[in-house]
Amino acid sequence: DYEVKIGLFGSGGVGRSSIILKFTENKFNEEYSPLIDEQFSKIFNFNNEKITFLIFNSTPREEYGDYFPELCKQSNIFFLVYSITDKYSFNQILNYHYKRIKNILNVEDYPKILIGNKNDLTMKRVIKTKEGKELAKKINCKFIETSAKTGENINQLFYESFNLKIQN
Ligand code: GDP
Repeated sequence: DYEVKIGLFGSGGVGRSSIILKFTENKFNEEYSPLIDEQFSKIFNFNNEKITFLIFNSTPREEYGDYFPELCKQSNIFFLVYSITDKYSFNQILNYHYKRIKNILNVEDYPKILIGNKNDLTMKRVIKTKEGKELAKKINCKFIETSAKTGENINQLFYESFNLKIQN
């Protein structure tokens, strides 16, 4: 049996809660509900192996700063999420989220996945796939583009986190 502990980081509105909702309940909600820190779990059976995913959602709001170190320490895999339609959210990955985690622990040593979400919004794309790949290379992590709306690559994303867990 395996336990995969995932911390999700990213700017508001990129779709962190939506990714979790799609994975855990196969649902999508068009409405934006600003987050508070939340914890989710889902048990997956794969090849007779029981995989428990524990998912910690973080809010980027400073007022929850006290909980942030704990959140980082609980995680053994880091999901860094931006929206392909939002350049600010992309820039914030390196300028803010990655740095903030690095202040708490040696994030270089942990498995990470860079996630470009909202892949269905083709007409609104401002961050090229190539740019995502380059950033992933720079911070030494896996890269995946997802859509919490259509479900594209959502199960693959969590399956990949399980693969990273067993390799580490
Ligand atoms: P969070 O602040 O990162 O948790 O963002 P939410 O999950 O609340 O999503 C913010 C908004 O983006 C909501 O209106 C969602 O419906 C929408 N959204 C999230 N993921 C996607 C996606 O993959 N495609 C599209 N089209 N909209 C999305």
